[in-house]
Amino acid sequence: MASVAPAAGIPSLYTADPPIWDLLETPTSHVQDNTVDECRPFLSADIPDVQYNAHGVAHLDKPKHAAFLRKHLEKLPGAYMTADASRPWIFYWCLNGLRLLDQDVSPFREKLVDTARSMQNESGGFGGGFGQRSHLATTYALVLALALVGGDEAREVIDRRAMWKWLSSLKQADGAFQMSLDGEVDVRGAYCATVIVTLLNLPMDVWHESPAAKAGLPDLFTGLADYVRRCQTYEGGISGKPDAEAHGAYAFCALGCLAILESPSQSFTKHLDVPRLMSWLSSRQYAPEGGFSGRTNKLVDGCYSHWVGACWPLIEASLQSIPVETGPPESATSLDLYDREGLIRYILCCGQDQSRRGGMRDKPSRPSDAYHTCYVLSGLSSAQHVSVSTLMATKTSSRQAPAADIISQDFGGDSGAIGWEVFPHCPEDQVFDEQDRVSPIDPVYTIPIRERADFISYFRAKSGF
Ligand SMILES: [Zn+2]
Repeated sequence: MASVAPAAGIPSLYTADPPIWDLLETPTSHVQDNTVDECRPFLSADIPDVQYNAHGVAHLDKPKHAAFLRKHLEKLPGAYMTADASRPWIFYWCLNGLRLLDQDVSPFREKLVDTARSMQNESGGFGGGFGQRSHLATTYALVLALALVGGDEAREVIDRRAMWKWLSSLKQADGAFQMSLDGEVDVRGAYCATVIVTLLNLPMDVWHESPAAKAGLPDLFTGLADYVRRCQTYEGGISGKPDAEAHGAYAFCALGCLAILESPSQSFTKHLDVPRLMSWLSSRQYAPEGGFSGRTNKLVDGCYSHWVGACWPLIEASLQSIPVETGPPESATSLDLYDREGLIRYILCCGQDQSRRGGMRDKPSRPSDAYHTCYVLSGLSSAQHVSVSTLMATKTSSRQAPAADIISQDFGGDSGAIGWEVFPHCPEDQVFDEQDRVSPIDPVYTIPIRERADFISYFRAKSGF
């Protein structure tokens, strides 16, 4: 491997040879070595014209990354034609990234409302574009995008009754969700459906004419936790469906789903082998790179700063729920189960495109894009903050979905209620400057906490459709 002189203020862990080195030479070990070589100059503060702080960490160029995201909300060049079915995702990635950078996205409301109307199907849900069939992934992304721009006009675009019928028709006899009618069934469906049902405060009952109702399932969440349980693999990670390979993005979907169904302190231990999951998640963080990979024997990639990084606040929450009969806590202590410093160094030093182009990226040799910009910034947010779940004693007898407000999330069952508080993480040895902190993000709904709270409050105030 190429050697790079370490700069002052940078621990050798992030510049030296890997502490664990695969001595069996294979194509995989070679690309791993090449990736370490690629990252080390960036981690060693050795890139000309980049502004570093006293810890050898690059500053976050917020204006440049915001401009990059804004460009993706304008007319896109022809090369984006292949992404036509992913337009709701582009809206979500850009709007969420801009909000994490503290930008006002309400000026996009009118355009988004017009576009969203054209993407909604009368039979419920949103397609990737006009005339495209509804899909849970694009519906999830568009609902979050509407929450991000805020305002009643954006909220009222959604036909909740049709959405509820459509979600009912996607529900499978084993409790899982199809991504689209006659489409694939996987753990993304479990997460996207629980997010949509709770954000929109949809009824829990299954529409009586749906196949799930005919199979005897009483409500939309029946069997979901058990489906997620069956997705945990021998490695401890979580796969997209039972008996497949563990993957970081599916792990996040699984934990997000369980965290909505019930308090993480109850649902994780009930349905998962948590120590084994923590072992697998820990194995995703590499040295010297500091960032995460998505699977065993894969390379570090910026987007897993969110998919794997966002699993950690949920795991922490499962280990330290706080009863709040006396009110929400005023501060929080992180369990620091992963190396936050390493992740922050990877994101700020390797994850930014420092050229005029801007945006965030997978790794230095990869071009920036809207997807990575959103998820790298989301990962930065969870590394810079501490999330605490607060367990409350209140229960509801309503048949509406469990839902959250800024401090509490009520459950229809016997599980009490859970809320989320997000605090800045400010260790004595903080390696990033305050100007480089991004906005706090809801650890489950993956949008800033204020937007999530406003959106949920609006629909909780509605009775029926
Ligand atoms: Zn990626």
